[in-house]
Amino acid sequence: MTDTIGRGHCRCGAIELTVTGAALMRGLCHCTICQAFNEAPYADITLFRSRDVQVNAPERVRFDTYRPPPAVQRGKCADCEQPAIEYLDLPGLPKLAIVPSANLQELPGLPDPALHIFYHRRTADVDDGLPRFSGYWRSQLAFSWRVMAALWRTR
Ligand SMILES: [Zn+2]
Ligand SMILES: [Zn+2]
Repeated sequence: MTDTIGRGHCRCGAIELTVTGAALMRGLCHCTICQAFNEAPYADITLFRSRDVQVNAPERVRFDTYRPPPAVQRGKCADCEQPAIEYLDLPGLPKLAIVPSANLQELPGLPDPALHIFYHRRTADVDDGLPRFSGYWRSQLAFSWRVMAALWRTR
């Protein structure tokens, strides 16, 4: 028995998300893949265990393969062609769902962004007082550390 925390949806509403577990963390990613996928200077993304986010119509999510690593499946809504949900599968960790925070504006308890990663790829400076991590490994470590801490906290 799982309790619904709240709902989200893609820009046009065809893809509805039902959230049944707490967000693990929210971050701002400036990597070039996120820039291309979101058609934006950076991605504002919120992470969950994938079991905590149900998709109403998975067959209407179109997954594209961008260049690796890491092992991210990036899904757009087949109707509005905007980012709907992404999945990250890392060895030794539960499968994670990455949801564009724009799809979660009505979600109670949506966390504030915690950090910038891949900041060396930025197209513009951002001065919001959040920690900023540049470089591939520094970004990956900062990100992974926070996800693992959240997984541990919310076991
Ligand atoms: Zn849509
Ligand atoms: Zn990224």
